Amino acid sequence: MSDNCLFCKIARGEIPAKKVYEDDEFIAFHDINPAAPLHLLVVPKHHITSLLDVQPEDEQWLGRMMTLAPKLAQENGCTPGYEGGFRTVVNTGKEGGQEIAHLHLHILGGPRPWNKRAAPAA
Ligand code: AMP
Ligand code: ZN
Repeated sequence: MSDNCLFCKIARGEIPAKKVYEDDEFIAFHDINPAAPLHLLVVPKHHITSLLDVQPEDEQWLGRMMTLAPKLAQENGCTPGYEGGFRTVVNTGKEGGQEIAHLHLHILGGPRPWNKRAAPAA
């Protein structure tokens, strides 16, 4: 946990979020500024700054984070099957477009067009 980190504060329940999922390792909630009809963030509860910081021992929870994506996308209204689907994004570092320095997985989905900023160029 990091005292001044926004996503650590959300994970601790100190800042409200529109939570859709929580377990021992992760919290998932709606992005406050959605770039698609569905825009969720999946956040590990422990503080880790970015993918630049991951080590081999992180493989297990990183794998779990990816396996949560289709479950959360479908539970939260993404169009099912290959006609639907969703996009997963992890921004890393300044040039990677990362604004919040706590690793997180974006899940973007729903009918197109996604006409706002942040949906990374197709
Ligand atoms: P990134 O640029 O990958 O670091 O993404 C950070 C995301 O966090 C952006 O899409 C923001 O809209 C989102 N965000 C910032 N503050 C909050 C908040 N309090 N609750 C939910 N999402 C947030
Ligand atoms: Zn943090």
